[in-house]
Amino acid sequence: MSSFRSLAEIAHVYVERDALSLPAVERARESLAGASWHVVEGKEEMPPEDLNSRTLFLTRPKGRIVGRCPGSRGHVCCNYLTVDLYVGCPLGCSYCVMKGYLNFSPLVVHVDPRPAVEELVRLAETHPDRPIRVGTGEVGDSLFLDPVFRLSEEFIRALAPYPHVSFEVKTKTASVDHLLGVAPKGRAVVGFSLNPPRVVAEEEGAAAPLEERLEAAKKVLDAGFRLSLHFDPIFRFPGWEDAYARVVGALAPFPADGIAWVSLGTIRYLPALKERMSGRPYLYDEFVLSRDGKFRYLQAMRVEVYRYMKDLITGIWPGTPVYLCMESAAVWYRVFGTLPRKIPELWAIFERVALSGERRKR
Ligand code: SF4
Repeated sequence: MSSFRSLAEIAHVYVERDALSLPAVERARESLAGASWHVVEGKEEMPPEDLNSRTLFLTRPKGRIVGRCPGSRGHVCCNYLTVDLYVGCPLGCSYCVMKGYLNFSPLVVHVDPRPAVEELVRLAETHPDRPIRVGTGEVGDSLFLDPVFRLSEEFIRALAPYPHVSFEVKTKTASVDHLLGVAPKGRAVVGFSLNPPRVVAEEEGAAAPLEERLEAAKKVLDAGFRLSLHFDPIFRFPGWEDAYARVVGALAPFPADGIAWVSLGTIRYLPALKERMSGRPYLYDEFVLSRDGKFRYLQAMRVEVYRYMKDLITGIWPGTPVYLCMESAAVWYRVFGTLPRKIPELWAIFERVALSGERRKR
């Protein structure tokens, strides 16, 4: 399945009958008028030849609506909450964990945001003293389809009255124009995954070029959003230090108080996905199997990358929260000298909020 980023590539839209009257479906009818629309009772009615990323399946969310980022066994977890709004992504990054999924599935849009919004408002009111971070970018790109369905703005508006809640959308697109006028914005965060142009061109399929992401980042910052930046996955290739220094250098004009947080993670992958990564050159680097079953660079190599990136970032924005995504306690100690709960600007990011039916863990 080839990657794409134009919405004109969407060929089929299947809507579940009980979702037909939702405002997000109404909004999409205009933007996706060129696709063929079908009403179904359930996903099983979709013909097998349309089970691919050029097809959308519009449904109400089923099951748990606010979850927890799965984290990784044996690694320090940042206790991020997740809402699966857009499941699947056609951008086609070579390292994407969704790769297997997309060959046989449509992109799924959970077109009724109300249950998740209500659950988040309930959490916000139950825990007025706890920072809550929640995002929609764990199982797909938060903004690729958002200009069509405009689901993110419902979360942004509903959560704006709660200053302890940071709602984050995460993207590798530059599709932000539809968000700029949303008001109030509260503590909403627009996040961009960043990599040097060479990595974007070689490994990030149809994702927006770096300059377009940076222009979009400037627009959302000017419009009053906070920004998050995700250097994840970071690759070590000849000249990686200069390449990443140039990306961080391009961010230097952004003011420190506009940056909510920066995350760092080196390339990691599950052995089962290796075949689908079709011999990408980075697979020939030296990797070690971690406790969560993923391959990562050797610990000393990861530590070197993280120290370097942390110094670059705190060099331009001292005091900005910088954290490691899915890393071991040993690596945290070697990079920061301690664990995140002991770092004043990070404890809020790593604080855990209990979801309905969960027991609180410390
Ligand atoms: S943007 Fe994210 S979800 Fe989409 S293909 Fe790339 S890694 Fe996967």
